[in-house]
Amino acid sequence: MIDRKKKDIINTLVPISIFYKTRVGKNIRCPDVSAHKHGDKSPSAHIYENKIFCFKCRRYFNVSDIAVYNHISLDKLYEKLVEKYGSNLEIEYLKRREEPEEEIKIEVKKENKSFIDFTKEYFNSL
Ligand SMILES: [Zn+2]
Repeated sequence: MIDRKKKDIINTLVPISIFYKTRVGKNIRCPDVSAHKHGDKSPSAHIYENKIFCFKCRRYFNVSDIAVYNHISLDKLYEKLVEKYGSNLEIEYLKRREEPEEEIKIEVKKENKSFIDFTKEYFNSL
């Protein structure tokens, strides 16, 4: 079971671009498709830098929520951050928190990649 602090670190340091091949400002299907009658066929969720807002559900989803809806382990995500930042993890986290206006680079991914490819790619790149 992952604690609140670890979740916050994940939400701060893992980019939302590991899940979606689209950019900030675009609309995508709601992470919680089960909350929508037809699986949210016409996308109702809007991508912000580190979260998604669904206009129909009226809910925000951050990186850890999206991971949970897609059966991606938060413990694994956290471990990957530990591998990437090592003893600087806390420092990187605090630094990012202090600069929330800092633009987080979102890369436009190749269209033929599936959601899971991309997530794998992120894990491998760490
Ligand atoms: Zn929704």
